[in-house]
Amino acid sequence: MTSIAANLQAVHARIAAACAACGRDAAAVRLLAVSKTWTAAAVRAAAACGERAFGESYVQEAVAKMSELADLDLAWHFIGPLQSNKTRPVAEAFAWVHSIDRLKIAERLSAQRPDRLPPLQVCIEVNVSGEASKSGCAPADVAALAAAVAGLPRLRLRGLMAIPEPSDDAALQRRRFASLRTLRDTLNGAGFALDTLSMGMSHDLEAAIAEGANIVRVGTAIFGARTKND
Ligand SMILES: *Cc1c(COP(=O)(O)O)cnc(C)c1O
Repeated sequence: MTSIAANLQAVHARIAAACAACGRDAAAVRLLAVSKTWTAAAVRAAAACGERAFGESYVQEAVAKMSELADLDLAWHFIGPLQSNKTRPVAEAFAWVHSIDRLKIAERLSAQRPDRLPPLQVCIEVNVSGEASKSGCAPADVAALAAAVAGLPRLRLRGLMAIPEPSDDAALQRRRFASLRTLRDTLNGAGFALDTLSMGMSHDLEAAIAEGANIVRVGTAIFGARTKND
């Protein structure tokens, strides 16, 4: 077995154990394999193990990988910070964007989404760590952004995403993820139908699953440590 295959088996076992520990159905948690900085060959190895959904943070790198892997039927999720001058290739090539943090980006993605493709599935990224993190929409601004995004014709608002500050404190991890879940529940109580919490990474996926994650975004535990500092 390649190490990617063995790592994937271990990650799926962690997800299953975390679901069992809190009485959730393991089918309710999807694994997004975060392949940023890794080669097309690494993605191909993960795809050979049955993975279909891959997360990327750098537009040019992702587009090059997609063309190398065009023979596979993969779903690409954009999870990184998105500048307005890079929205077009994202609108044209990705199935999901998890990192919507302002209306201007959402408007551009909607305008640039080709008609031949289904609507782009999107999550709003929320800054649940306050000062400790700079990316994401402030929790107080999420409802207004969600209302505006939900009105865009070529986007489908699926839920919320967060990247809490790295911490080994399990209680703190749980609090951050719980705050995202509470925000989602509040929005759904106000009439939204958000079915996705994108939260949990290699080091904290158990805490995220305990708080209701539907998509965990895992890179290091599958592909190994990245050399780039991100
Ligand atoms: C890199 C990245 C991940 C994966 O993190 P790991 O710690 O390698 O599992 C998840 N989400 C986002 C937004 C990322 O940028």
